[in-house]
Amino acid sequence: MIKCLLNFNDMTKAPKKIEAILPKPMQYGMVGDGFRVYNYFPNGYRIREFISPFLMLDYNPTFDFGPSEQPRGVDVHPHKGFETVTIAYKGSVAHHDSKGNSGIIHPGDVQWMTAGAGILHKEYHEKEFSKKGGPFEMVQLWVNLPKKDKLVEPHYQAIEGKDMGQFKLEEGKGSVNIIAGNFNGIKGSANTYTEINLFDIRLQEAAAINFDVPAEHNCGILMIDGAAEINGKRTMQHEFVLFAREGENIDIKAIDNCTILLLSGIPILEPIAQYGPFVMNTKEELNIAFEEFNSGKFGVLN
Ligand code: MN
Repeated sequence: MIKCLLNFNDMTKAPKKIEAILPKPMQYGMVGDGFRVYNYFPNGYRIREFISPFLMLDYNPTFDFGPSEQPRGVDVHPHKGFETVTIAYKGSVAHHDSKGNSGIIHPGDVQWMTAGAGILHKEYHEKEFSKKGGPFEMVQLWVNLPKKDKLVEPHYQAIEGKDMGQFKLEEGKGSVNIIAGNFNGIKGSANTYTEINLFDIRLQEAAAINFDVPAEHNCGILMIDGAAEINGKRTMQHEFVLFAREGENIDIKAIDNCTILLLSGIPILEPIAQYGPFVMNTKEELNIAFEEFNSGKFGVLN
């Protein structure tokens, strides 16, 4: 679905207050041998209250791992109680899970996996991409589920870039792919359990765009590529703009050609008990998750 509309957001609303501009973390971490990621929301830091319903943002900036006959990635592992959202910018990722699902996430595509009651999966560089090597760039976002939905049946939404709701700026100055939520009346592709906006924004140098995000949403912007002025503040590539729950309007002026990820959502005000890939509400529920995992309840995947 492609629509051409004027950007008619209400400019009279108050600008959304910038809480902080976070630099790219100092250290990257490896997830398996295929994801060289910077974790923008370190565990335990009070940033959690500012980013709920999001739990984790791992970003693998462009990196060439080189050609490999044996696809790089992360082998079989569990998830329970939340959702993983993988956004491919460069290179391709293949996945398989214990429910018999599999697929490939190509540049511009998104995979929205609801782990819910528990699943095993593995995530690898796609075979042909792996053989050739080349630039690889990905985001994986973890989205919490509210207590009432933590045990839903695991499932996927494979969302291809070409099928996403898209807003186009005039004169080819850019576009917004609406992964989830709503922008200028265009609905996002993903079904979500809580109110979330997730926008893949591409702007040409000097282009400007304006977003209304409800004041009560937590909100952040990851500068994937390029520099921009956001609500009057200059932000550089790989910085993360963290907003306060104050004001609604986000004004972006691209300084260079920009690729920008905007995320926002209603915070889930429930206790979090997390151990690695299990995100529940209580310690008892974590223990149950371990028992289920150890006893093979999440299924089998080789
Ligand atoms: Mn995973």
